Amino acid sequence: MELTHLTGLSQAELSELMASVGQPAYRARQIFSGIHARRLTSFDEMTDLPKDLRSRLSEQATISSLTVESRYISSDGTRRYLFKTRDNFPVETVFIPEEHRDTICFSSQSGCPLQCTFCLTAQLGLLRNLTAGEIVEQIIFALNDAYGIGVPTPRGTNLVAMGAGEPFLNFDNLMQAVGIMSEPAGLSIVPNRITVSTAGVVPRIRELAKIAERPHLAVSLAASTDELRDELMPINKKWPIDQLMAACKHFEKSLKRHERFTFEYVMLRGVNDSDEQARQLANLINRHDLRAKVNLIPHNPAEPLPYQPSAVERVEQFQKILEHKGVPAFIRRPRGRDILAACGQLAARSASGDTPVSISSGSMKRRIA
Ligand code: SAH
Repeated sequence: MELTHLTGLSQAELSELMASVGQPAYRARQIFSGIHARRLTSFDEMTDLPKDLRSRLSEQATISSLTVESRYISSDGTRRYLFKTRDNFPVETVFIPEEHRDTICFSSQSGCPLQCTFCLTAQLGLLRNLTAGEIVEQIIFALNDAYGIGVPTPRGTNLVAMGAGEPFLNFDNLMQAVGIMSEPAGLSIVPNRITVSTAGVVPRIRELAKIAERPHLAVSLAASTDELRDELMPINKKWPIDQLMAACKHFEKSLKRHERFTFEYVMLRGVNDSDEQARQLANLINRHDLRAKVNLIPHNPAEPLPYQPSAVERVEQFQKILEHKGVPAFIRRPRGRDILAACGQLAARSASGDTPVSISSGSMKRRIA
């Protein structure tokens, strides 16, 4: 029998489920808080529940569906987790320690159906969509590993849906997970602390614009002409740049006055990083009168991708041109490249630096500089 995965249920759904088997509402509250606030991973640890209830729950339900295969720790402190789902599909999550606020980068799909030529995940193809529970579980695991089981996050933690997969091709499960994570009785991670990155699924950008409590939006551009973008990101053939910009404009109108959204631009040496291309990019954004910033991401190389990262000076010059034309631009520092944890490097590969996982409280107290 398929076990019900409780981690993917909101508190209201869990209450309904418990009521249907004759359990009072406070039991559902205990279980919800056990999973999401105390971040426990088995019913056995929920010692506030009667023993017979715990054993009945274990027979019919589960709260952990992912098993960790490997954990890699980068020389910069970034951690990459490689999980397997119950049906043996790979899932990857990256924890990125930062000076002021840590970031967890999670996956929305196992593999990815898009065929961006600069991204290693593309080589897996789509294996399957992740469930809401599998999405939430990645965050719970990473938090426990970084800070200790149930230990509150020291500075708050940001989440980015920038791991494997196209989040907007798994929209319902993604939004269900976002809702669960925002519950104050649980993880209490509000949508405002989450950024969702899309390769440009136009109808979903428009749909996101309608949602009041929603994550921030980042749109991966990589090129500002259809000719080049068709080549680098084949999704462009379905939703070309003009349609994408129109959807972005629509989304922008729903932003609050001080808010902006983000364009991501991967910098590929000799392919999309010339002065002329910087001007084209700025002109594109200005022509559509978009209140957006640009994050420049130096390409993270991986065999057999046919690209090299742009030189540092090239990226800086590209940034200057954007800024000069009034477009705010930021250069992203690559993290975790040595363990294949950086953007576009997630492909369920092994790397050196595999470390045994033993989750103990405060395992991040000794921070790796
Ligand atoms: N499918 C979504 C989210 C995953 S990719 C999207 O396309 O936005 C997250 C970011 O990593 C995207 O901006 C993507 O363009 C970038 N990226 C992909 N491969 C990369 C690589 N090899 N080096 C640097 N950035 C890469």
